[in-house]
Amino acid sequence: MKREDCEALDREDPLRPFREQFELPAGLIYLDGNSLGALPRATAARLAEVTRREWGQDLIGSWNRNGWVDIPQRVGDKIGRLIGAAPGQTVAADSTSINVYKALSAALKLQPQRRVIVSERGNFPTDLYIAEGLIAQLGGGYQLRLIDSPEDLPAALDASVAVVMLTHVNYRSGRLWDLAATTQAVHGAGALMLWDLAHSAGAVPLAVDDAGADFAVGCGYKYLNGGPGAPAFLYVAQRHQHAATPLSGWFGHAAPFAFETGYRPAEGIARWLCGTPSVLAMSALEVGVDLLLEASMAQLRAKSLRQCELFLFLVASQCKDCGLQLASPSDAARRGSQICLSHEQAWPIMQALIAQGVVGDFRAPDVLRFGFTPLYTRYCDVWDAVAVLSRVMRQEIWRRPEYQTRLVVT
Ligand SMILES: *Cc1c(COP(=O)(O)O)cnc(C)c1O
Repeated sequence: MKREDCEALDREDPLRPFREQFELPAGLIYLDGNSLGALPRATAARLAEVTRREWGQDLIGSWNRNGWVDIPQRVGDKIGRLIGAAPGQTVAADSTSINVYKALSAALKLQPQRRVIVSERGNFPTDLYIAEGLIAQLGGGYQLRLIDSPEDLPAALDASVAVVMLTHVNYRSGRLWDLAATTQAVHGAGALMLWDLAHSAGAVPLAVDDAGADFAVGCGYKYLNGGPGAPAFLYVAQRHQHAATPLSGWFGHAAPFAFETGYRPAEGIARWLCGTPSVLAMSALEVGVDLLLEASMAQLRAKSLRQCELFLFLVASQCKDCGLQLASPSDAARRGSQICLSHEQAWPIMQALIAQGVVGDFRAPDVLRFGFTPLYTRYCDVWDAVAVLSRVMRQEIWRRPEYQTRLVVT
């Protein structure tokens, strides 16, 4: 395997034209699109249009004239296409944390005889924090039951379980749950299924309707390339949309502009909105989602699998005996679009990599995380990234004092 082989793969890549659609600094290899997606070229122009023309000129009239009022549903339905949801079941709104709160709360209300939320100890912490906070708020014997691995799920399912909340692709390891089989097992125990798709949407093919998922949430700023702090999304299967939302804000009211004194919930997915959508952020998110919708998810997955395999092959051959361990499943079918390596010096190693132009990230306590975003990652980037990693390890560049200081955001 030579660098020329990677150049050939890039030439034949059907997704190759998409890279041109992103602003990426020259000379930088960006393997962190799973944490903050890259900036689509069209975003700045779209934001200029929304600010100057829609906001600046059309002002308040934009809510009707420029479709601002429907933007959560419009962008939500587009995200629905990425996750396999028929229209009318997905909204872009709020943050993932808040959507977890809405979905968990509704699921518990739908299951009044049951008191247990099942999740994973290794889940993204905010999901667990929200569950804890909700339980504290509800009182009445609710409890969070944590499992340590997928094998523990069957034993955790009993008649007390109201809802199972799992992150489809684990943020730290990249391990992927079987969405359909897990949902089926959870339903078999009479519980509801809430999926967090933060590391899945835009990265792996998804079919939430076919799987029979009850609720799903996910992020706009990761693989959807919606920009820092982009609105998140919430999927509520049509059969559950009548449930009670805990955040009964006016955008979820049946007639927001009737300004009635009492809350009267809207029918359908609109009920799952709370307050005024962030139009600027939504507009940026829509550009990212539109771009993804132009690509074939099957091609994205195929390229992602190939890039992950290439990365692992190159690490095995060029970083032998460097003390790097694979912290992701070795079976590609059980991984999302990221590879994690562990090393006890993971923090300074990642700092050294970033200083040499290879941007991944660090996850405590010892994980080096590399995300592969096939819309804009080239096979040559994979080659070059491993060459830099090998140099950082062999020459022990990570030992330099400037790479030892911990920053707030890792
Ligand atoms: C990134 C991520 C979040 C982030 O939630 P915010 O409310 O957007 O900060 C939540 N859950 C998972 C699984 C994530 O990966």
